[in-house]
Amino acid sequence: MSNITTVKGFKDILPDETAKWRSIEEKARNIFADFGIREIRTPVLEKTDLFRRGIGDSTDIVEKEMYTFVDQGEESLTLRPEATASVIRSYIEHALYAADPLAKLFTIGPMFRRERPQKGRYRQFHQIDVEYLGYDDPRADAEVIMLLIQLLKNLGLADVKLEMNTLGCALCRPAFRESILSFLEGKKEDLCEDCRRRLNTNPLRVFDCKNTGCRRIITDAPRLLDVACGSCRKHFDVVTSSLTDFGIPFFVNTGMVRGLDYYTRTTFEITTEFLGAQNAVVGGGRYDGLVKDLGGPDIPGIGFAIGMERLLSLLPMKSEDFAIHPYIFIAALGDYAQKQAFSLCHRLRLRGIPAEMAYGGKSLKSQMKRANKLNCRYTLIFGDRELAAGTVELRDMRDSSQVSLSYQTIEETIATKFGEEQTHLG
Ligand code: AMP
Repeated sequence: MSNITTVKGFKDILPDETAKWRSIEEKARNIFADFGIREIRTPVLEKTDLFRRGIGDSTDIVEKEMYTFVDQGEESLTLRPEATASVIRSYIEHALYAADPLAKLFTIGPMFRRERPQKGRYRQFHQIDVEYLGYDDPRADAEVIMLLIQLLKNLGLADVKLEMNTLGCALCRPAFRESILSFLEGKKEDLCEDCRRRLNTNPLRVFDCKNTGCRRIITDAPRLLDVACGSCRKHFDVVTSSLTDFGIPFFVNTGMVRGLDYYTRTTFEITTEFLGAQNAVVGGGRYDGLVKDLGGPDIPGIGFAIGMERLLSLLPMKSEDFAIHPYIFIAALGDYAQKQAFSLCHRLRLRGIPAEMAYGGKSLKSQMKRANKLNCRYTLIFGDRELAAGTVELRDMRDSSQVSLSYQTIEETIATKFGEEQTHLG
């Protein structure tokens, strides 16, 4: 019988890796606290309509990438492909706006998209997601981006490119749509099949097409910035000038439309050349109509999502830096010694001192091998005979020096040593 493996595009995060994930999450949580951003956790499974209405029927995600199934023949459910729609569903369902019209929220967890798996693209991936609700001031856009850049810096990621664009509002977007349509009108035959269909659903999606022919055509297309209304233009100016004031460089990429329909005004991506084809590590933007579209009040929003897998692949983090090593390994020879070691080991752990031992009648050589493998700081060695004499050996694993110590006071001796070394390290 063949072994059962993970589902294609899904990945295990093994013990050598998890500490890196936790370290990133911790740094994110720290900076979120400084900015007053609170955690929200929503289910990974939602009603399919949430994403159809939220993300948009004409997007790649909704058209072809959702994990959707009918639950026991009753209702259509979908594994969340992104977090924003879920966070807003929760914000509306629990009327969080009634208690406070301003909400800064974050959530961290797995997302699911049935894309073609390749380097940097998985079917289950993880995002750190931030959403600001109730803020329409352009300085909120700048705040969100500044917080993001600072987080990436704190994580050791400096070599990134911030790309910005504006997608306009309900006032200027329709005119833009029309100008794109008339630009593409005579070129219909040269577009790929998907894009020809997009002309009827959402012509802006043509900017996203990977097809080289479509890319060539769209290069000369009109840009939203050319037709943006006065207030969208002003909004974008305040966002960009706030970033400039804080010395945050950015590039205006007028061809960036992002893959989700809900964006309005400011949109941004963080890209890096080190990621190859999947070069975006963060995507975000403003979505002023989404809360209303999903049945809530007319409340604006802005947010971003960092892709954890891509972020990890960019960081110079080594598993060794996060390895857990016991402070002390107890090598005990003989039945009585094993019994004493078992109890000492437990007492040390209860005091917060990482301790380990080997069970069973293993030879001293094999126990020392294990101590070495675990890379512990000290090894305590004793047999029944040493215990009878009241002395045990403590071996410093760094320089292999060894001292005899009283067994009576060994727990205190180890605790004192551990305390001193921690203070020294701290
Ligand atoms: P999006 O929600 O599409 O704006 O994506 C935001 C970020 O999530 C991207 O910049 C990627 O870092 C990450 N991401 C999106 N899709 C995937 C995927 N299939 N595999 C890994 N990371 C992804």
